[in-house]
Amino acid sequence: MKSSKNIDRLLVLIGFTEEIVTKTIELIDNKLRLSRLILSQNIKDESVIDSIKNKIEELENEISRWKKKNKIGQIVIASATARPKGKRIRLFKELLGFQVGGVGEGIRKIYDVYILSDPSKFDELLLEYIKRLGTGGLVFVPKDLGVEKTEQIAELLRSHGIKAEAFHAEKKKGLIEAFANGEIDILVGVAFHHGLLVRGLDLPARVRYAIFYDIPRHIISLASERISPISLLAIMGIISDATGNAELDKRRKALSDKLRRLEPQTFKLLTRAILNEEKVEGYLKRLKEEILKNARYCISLLKQPDVFSKVEQYPYVRLLLDETGSFTIIYPDIDSYIQASGRTSRLYPGGVTTGLSIILTSDKYLINGLRRQLIWRYEHCDLVPIEEVNLDEIIHKIDEDRYKVRSIYEGKEKAEFVDPIKSAVLIVESPNKAKTISMFFGRPTIRRFEEGLVYEVTSGDYVLNIVATKGHMFDLTVEGKDLLCGVEKHDGYYIPVYDTIKRCKKCGTQFVLSEKKCPKCGSTDIIDARDVVRRLQELTKEVDVVFLASDPDVEGEKIAWDTKNVVFLFTNDIRRMEFHEVSKLAIDRGLKESRSIDMNLVKAQLVRRIEDRWIGFELSKMLWKRFNDVNLSAGRVQSAVLRWIIDRYLKWRETLHFYFRIFSEGFDIIIDFPDVKENRDAEILLEKLKNEKIIVEKVEKEEREIKPLPPYTTDSMLYDATTIMKISAAQTMKLAQDLFESGLITYHRTDSTRVSSQGIKVAKDYITDKFSENEFTPRSWGVGGAHECIRPVKPLDQSQLAELIREGVLNIRLTAQHLQLYGLIFRRFIASQMKVAKVIHQRAKVKIAGKSLDVEGIIKVIEGSEGFTKVYSLHLPKRIVELKEGAAYPVTNIRKWIGSPYELYTQAEIIREMKEKGIGRPSTYAIIVKKLFDRKYIQEVNGRIKPTPKGISVAKYLTDNFYELVSDERTKVLYEKMDKVETNEADYQQILQETYNEIVNILHREKAEILKPETRAVEF
Ligand SMILES: [Zn+2]
Repeated sequence: MKSSKNIDRLLVLIGFTEEIVTKTIELIDNKLRLSRLILSQNIKDESVIDSIKNKIEELENEISRWKKKNKIGQIVIASATARPKGKRIRLFKELLGFQVGGVGEGIRKIYDVYILSDPSKFDELLLEYIKRLGTGGLVFVPKDLGVEKTEQIAELLRSHGIKAEAFHAEKKKGLIEAFANGEIDILVGVAFHHGLLVRGLDLPARVRYAIFYDIPRHIISLASERISPISLLAIMGIISDATGNAELDKRRKALSDKLRRLEPQTFKLLTRAILNEEKVEGYLKRLKEEILKNARYCISLLKQPDVFSKVEQYPYVRLLLDETGSFTIIYPDIDSYIQASGRTSRLYPGGVTTGLSIILTSDKYLINGLRRQLIWRYEHCDLVPIEEVNLDEIIHKIDEDRYKVRSIYEGKEKAEFVDPIKSAVLIVESPNKAKTISMFFGRPTIRRFEEGLVYEVTSGDYVLNIVATKGHMFDLTVEGKDLLCGVEKHDGYYIPVYDTIKRCKKCGTQFVLSEKKCPKCGSTDIIDARDVVRRLQELTKEVDVVFLASDPDVEGEKIAWDTKNVVFLFTNDIRRMEFHEVSKLAIDRGLKESRSIDMNLVKAQLVRRIEDRWIGFELSKMLWKRFNDVNLSAGRVQSAVLRWIIDRYLKWRETLHFYFRIFSEGFDIIIDFPDVKENRDAEILLEKLKNEKIIVEKVEKEEREIKPLPPYTTDSMLYDATTIMKISAAQTMKLAQDLFESGLITYHRTDSTRVSSQGIKVAKDYITDKFSENEFTPRSWGVGGAHECIRPVKPLDQSQLAELIREGVLNIRLTAQHLQLYGLIFRRFIASQMKVAKVIHQRAKVKIAGKSLDVEGIIKVIEGSEGFTKVYSLHLPKRIVELKEGAAYPVTNIRKWIGSPYELYTQAEIIREMKEKGIGRPSTYAIIVKKLFDRKYIQEVNGRIKPTPKGISVAKYLTDNFYELVSDERTKVLYEKMDKVETNEADYQQILQETYNEIVNILHREKAEILKPETRAVEF
């Protein structure tokens, strides 16, 4: 495979013709061209794009026709190439439906430790630790110390009786073999990204540890403006981060975007042009000038004393100024460090070997910087002082693993490792989650499987095939003839009857009918979940174990149970795994602590679904008949919520009167006059108020301690997102789902405020980093259970996250709204782990126009005691200043409006009310509100919710006739009972019996025609 031409030959060997291979290359060229055009955002002529698209379609059809007619053989690929690149590798994807993967550095099981010391002691320390750790060590020197240093160190070690050799380009012959078979104990090399010892050395039995003779680093001299573009971007980032210079940050983003769009060849040309003063023309010339200009700007900034001192104190990099007046910036080389230390932890047919990496350094700042970058990339890693680990224990683990590796290689331990790595299918709901999980384990091999993708990775213990069901696969059938509708009664038991969910490709309608024809538009172009089922069954046949990894709630448990029911014939090892965040740590724990399916949770979901179906279906049928409109629907919670909205609306309408916001010097007050309902009267009053004074009668001030709010649960997150971001509850849940599946936040459907120890660590890392450990106050908020609050998974704030995505360090796609929601979640969580704030609270009695009122609020945060308010601003409801007792303040402005003490609901308040009244659950808050909008029962006016005439009629009809069914009380009691099924404290069959009786009662009354015939809508 070293020559790309061999790929063509392989394909011909298994049966493709040269003509088809050529056609496929043409297809790949066209696809690349199309993506470049779209990325360049420089499309003048849309027809060019269309013609490429047509060409692609034509070629694809031709190739697939050929494949259908011809027989193709099989091919097994075992590539040692770390990163197969180039156009021809895509031939596999196009012709055989798979992408070659590889082991990345994701599976790191390394103890990362450091020793702070004066460089004069490095030699001594190196000898001490090599003597203690023994054979199988790699010593790395930073690239600036170069090859000579490797020779010096090797010489030093040899002079102390250690068999060591320097390893570099001129001297590498036979060394690896000698090291592998134990003739050499230690290899010494340079730690840079393409270093010989850094890449490609894969000896799990042999490499035991690595010692870094000083930290891998980039040293950038700013003696002139001729800095490579990559280094310049880093320098701009450092200066803008350290000083908060927004202009510089903007310039850097702009430059970074432009550089990213360049082809690798062009980029090289540009870099050469800058470093060697070579000439370039056109766009590149302009780009070169922009880069030089930015470099000059950076240098001029550093010449300002305040900028210099801020960067000098920025604790992640080192800034130096030499006697000639030129600057040097040193920052850690994270990529080389990860690659180099990664040699000590390799994959073998029994897992991943434990490794140890020791950094000798005198620079705490660079250690901070390296540690920060390391945990941004791997939540499960840390970099700690050597005193904090038990070295003997680590050495023991290291040797245990090497013993296992050798035993397997020598065939000794066959009995114990008959099947050292098991194959498994890991099933999740969403393709996005499948992709995120696969990324934790290096670069996945991707297979096309029917309509979807299968990501294949190695976790150490398993070869995992990660695949998505794309949500629910089954729902209650609607084809049952009797009144039970999707449920059969058998021997006194209620048995739900499920069928696969179908979706119309044309209009998107979902349905559960046996006939594959859209009930709405009649199209027969249907996606049937039956295909997903078949795909899962096929995959299961190939593996030893099935992991059911759907979301950690009752709905997820039901999906897991459905999946089990369709694959259990093909394997007898099926396990449910649960994780509340999509992170490497959580997945590893989930795989280890897998369990069987919790049938109580499944029953809870069954009873909720059936109850919802029965009530919904029967009530809706009544509505259809009464209102002659099949677009109406009802349900217990939905009807209760609609009634609150109407009650509130009626109260609001009855109590409308005039409000006045009176502005004064730096503060304002709101007063209302319940008797003033006419605009004419209000105008007169307004004129009068203009000449009044606000007289302060009494002022009390006190120091108060304010605690941060607990981290978000579903309802409080929805409250803030809908209020602050002005988006709907349903949209918020969609954004949160994406953040969860991308591994950025914990599960977003939760009632719990509990913070796990992992969560507390995230907060500690961020707070210590950003402020000081002094500001950190760990709080666990809730207790017990596996459930957690909604919190960030990584110690990254909104702008750091945006940065890592832009730089491609995190391979995630997010919109500005995703980032905004992430920011809300992040700040609220970090605040919940910070010190209390001390504030001055003021309570004043003021008088205007004969009316007395209390004005109170926080007038200031006490300096030095800001606590959590450093990340989370106190939402001060009104402007307020320190008031003087006895003073009279002039009225500077007045605004009037019609309002009511009973304000109309916002979406946020509706959800809060559902939570407080015990109706609705984290999984349903947003859905209920959306349903009311979809049915056009309610509408939003300026962010406030009003019922529509249709909503009022429907609610009135339901309340008049079925109040006992849809009352708050009945709904709450029933929901509590259904919750008890989860813990086996209630019998779900009995709840179904009760519900069934209720329905029979409705039907009975309908037959007897005792429903109120006419229900007049209230005047609107
Ligand atoms: Zn349709």
